[in-house]
Amino acid sequence: MKYDTSNNLREFIGKYLRGEEKEIVDLACKLINTKTENPPGNEILAARVVADFFQSLQIPYELFEKTKDRTNIIGYIGGRDKQPSAPALLVACHLDVVPAGDDWNWERNPFEAWREDGRIYGRGSSDNKGQMASMMAVARFLKGQFLLAGVADEERGSALGLEYLLNECGIKADYAIIPDVAHNIYQIKHTQ
Ligand SMILES: [Zn+2]
Repeated sequence: MKYDTSNNLREFIGKYLRGEEKEIVDLACKLINTKTENPPGNEILAARVVADFFQSLQIPYELFEKTKDRTNIIGYIGGRDKQPSAPALLVACHLDVVPAGDDWNWERNPFEAWREDGRIYGRGSSDNKGQMASMMAVARFLKGQFLLAGVADEERGSALGLEYLLNECGIKADYAIIPDVAHNIYQIKHTQ
């Protein structure tokens, strides 16, 4: 799809995202189905889904692990090499989820995503795998410098995730967006 400046941008993006709906839902379900409860994490399972997606679009990416299988993944969208002074925007979604608990009070297996009444259910659907899937659709859309990170260990402090990337891996950005949810968001009660 090509952006025509005579179009309304909101309308254009809305149309683009509606066209991406099936893929966003598929990606969200694939991510939910990876069991990345933290502890122990095993974010590598979700990072593989993201890596396959980046590969299919020929988006260059890197994996970073401070600890084995506690994987962070960053895709580099857009060519900063062509415009070194252009600002970089980092968007980070975490790949780990809060443990579902031993005596599951779930109607179904929380690691097999299901759809009902236009919603996706399963562990991590609203925190943070749904957001990651949406940002993956945005990655395809954007042409500027955009770093899309799937980070490890957010649910237990980020020492193996975002802190590690920024402090030890040389990841730098001018702006950042963290599309995570907070406790006061009502929908989380229904969808997490
Ligand atoms: Zn979160």
